[in-house]
Amino acid sequence: RQEQYLKLRDVPSVTKDGVEVTLQLNAGLLVDLPHLTETGAAGIGLFRTEIQFMIAERMPSAGEQQGLYNAVFAEASGLPVTFRTLDIGGDKILPYMQSVEEENPALGWRAIRIGLDRPGLLRAQIRALLKAAGGRPLKIMFPMVATCDEFVRARSLVEREKTHLSHHGYELPSDLKLGVMLEVPSLLFQLKEICALADFISVGSNDLMQFMFAIDRENRRVADRFDPLSVPMLRALRMVAEQAQAAGCLATVCGEIGGRPLEAMALIALGFHSLSMSPASLGPVKAMLLELEAKRVGDLIRQELERDGGDTLRPKLLRFAETHG
Ligand code: PEP
Ligand code: MG
Repeated sequence: RQEQYLKLRDVPSVTKDGVEVTLQLNAGLLVDLPHLTETGAAGIGLFRTEIQFMIAERMPSAGEQQGLYNAVFAEASGLPVTFRTLDIGGDKILPYMQSVEEENPALGWRAIRIGLDRPGLLRAQIRALLKAAGGRPLKIMFPMVATCDEFVRARSLVEREKTHLSHHGYELPSDLKLGVMLEVPSLLFQLKEICALADFISVGSNDLMQFMFAIDRENRRVADRFDPLSVPMLRALRMVAEQAQAAGCLATVCGEIGGRPLEAMALIALGFHSLSMSPASLGPVKAMLLELEAKRVGDLIRQELERDGGDTLRPKLLRFAETHG
């Protein structure tokens, strides 16, 4: 199997009916970068910058942050990298940062909420990213955004840092794209507005599932109760794909569902032409999509979603996948 996937490394990621799909990797450490060449991925679709902070014994300095980003750019050797700003709080606690007692940390002071309340922290990170990019293209996205206003405020921090750096003679990124993670359900009802503001949206299905179904993603007793291939989740995903496409905004998926072949089949069929996943998932997903007739599966899903009842499409999709290679 492994060898079979290795052979697919240089095969273009195009479905049987001609849909080009961009397959990228999720990463968080420098040691993840060699997987780019091993898998033939198109880039890093999610770089979790908090990992550097979580494994450190004290707050990484601005220089240390920039050092890591420089190294990531060097290792990626020209392939695009999407950096996500610090996604801390919730279950990702930094031992050296004063923590606040919270009844519900998953719903608490975390991610972009901390970034906007402590702009010094977020600005230092943004500055490090801008400096590391130098004259190269740069993509930044913000985690746990719940309102358009949060994105606008984060974007204006980026603008301030750009102005500051160019005043001081630094070379700015040749192309800067700013995106949002779509992982808080409130954004589903601001799709038109957020698509007009952001350059791209990246669906964080791990948290989106958690908040849509009100299930703690770390609690096995409840986490597997609901299916990402269930009607409500697929309706939400279809809405994202359609509205993003209508607005000309790129929509990708970087949650774990993008790395599971059956779920990836549904995502591509619904119109997500860009997925980011763990390195081990890329081979299986690519093998699946090379055999996929995206339009046929898309028609099947859309037809099922129009019908009443039926909780999960998994059995139907599995049957379809098995009878169509
Ligand atoms: C997600 O929520 O789906 C995601 C990709 O981010 P994380 O798993 O780091 O929360
Ligand atoms: Mg998340």
